[in-house]
Amino acid sequence: MRAPPSHPRFLEALVNGRRRLLTALTLAALVLSGGATAGAHAEDGAARPGPPAQYRVDGPATAAERTEVARTGAAIDGVDTGSVQITATSAEVRAIEALGFEVSPLLRTLDFPPSDSAYHNYAEMVARIDKAVADHPTLVRKTTFGTSHEGRNLLAVKISANVATDQNEPEVLFFHQLHAREHLTVEMGLYLIDLLSDGYGNDAQITRLLNSREIWVLPSLNPDGSEYDIATGSYRSWRKNRQPNSGTTAVGTDLNRNFAYLWGCCNGSSGSPSSTTYRGPRAESSPEVRALSNFVRGRVVGGKQQIRVSIDFHTYGQLILWPYGYTYAETATGMTRDDYDTHAALGRRMAALNGYTPQQSSDLYITDGSSTDWLWANQKIFAFTYEMYPGGASGGGFYPPGSIINRETSRNRGAVLELVEYADCPQRVIGKQAQYCA
Ligand SMILES: [Zn+2]
Repeated sequence: MRAPPSHPRFLEALVNGRRRLLTALTLAALVLSGGATAGAHAEDGAARPGPPAQYRVDGPATAAERTEVARTGAAIDGVDTGSVQITATSAEVRAIEALGFEVSPLLRTLDFPPSDSAYHNYAEMVARIDKAVADHPTLVRKTTFGTSHEGRNLLAVKISANVATDQNEPEVLFFHQLHAREHLTVEMGLYLIDLLSDGYGNDAQITRLLNSREIWVLPSLNPDGSEYDIATGSYRSWRKNRQPNSGTTAVGTDLNRNFAYLWGCCNGSSGSPSSTTYRGPRAESSPEVRALSNFVRGRVVGGKQQIRVSIDFHTYGQLILWPYGYTYAETATGMTRDDYDTHAALGRRMAALNGYTPQQSSDLYITDGSSTDWLWANQKIFAFTYEMYPGGASGGGFYPPGSIINRETSRNRGAVLELVEYADCPQRVIGKQAQYCA
């Protein structure tokens, strides 16, 4: 979708005051073209390393200035007063910046198909979080712990009594949507924020837990991939983030293969950028995993990791998984028999409450560079992965209808609260609190 800016009909359209129509048409083309752009540019040859993306360029106000932009090889997708929208490679962006123009990523408002409107896109997710903060200012606090590759804020929601104060209380970490197409996990995060904040003062267990724990909900680790997945109105089944890979047009890193414990060790990830399980060029190479890892490391206070237990929410399979994923062995370096038994006992207790199947992660298949291996081995956080509804592809796979959101998020109420209960001393679940938590 290249609109040659020097084309007479293009300029005629501008001077005839048809710019609004033109902009509407080019924006529509821009929305429709998303996935095809890489292919369209690939045939332009090797002069353009890195995959193209969409940007806003501030500065160009005349046809001559727009031509300067176009001469870099960038496609001009739309024109406004004093700015243009383009599709460009990273090299073209640098060339445009060298002309003295300001280039910023173009973040579009994307949405689910009407039949799945109950799901929250990124903007809707932020609005829901902001409402929870406004409704419960002493209980809920929103912070930003980093930015995605395309520049979206990575949000953490803290929920606790006296939320503004870092109290000396056991902490719990819930994080969601490492994988883009697993949209139900974002709904799980929003459910937890509402469950806990609305329950305080109304539900005795939740009130007690928020008085004695600090809970972190990170509802989307992969907002770029999520927005990309829904960009065209029909799902793209996108899993990875949207980070370019040098030397190829293949985009994205599998965020759940990018963590820094035995990264790439065991044939549990791919070294090929075009693979959906591409581990990235090095551990924590993705801004999203680096931000999450820094956030977790930042919870070490006085030499002690404050977070005791965590859940990494995925879909699908209705499973509760615990480390290690890189080996079939139950015990290994950094995983004693008691460590394993504590994970397994907590996993089974939770599974008894939500009907999922509990098992070691590698019982599914070998993975390396996963979140739970790093959280346990590196930070000694008892770490679980939930694979949420459905059980299989017949239930809708990654795209179950919006009508199941309430049922399949509230299904995990008891299981999640059970883990929060054990955050003071996870080893209590195997009766060894005197040994480990005295
Ligand atoms: Zn996943």
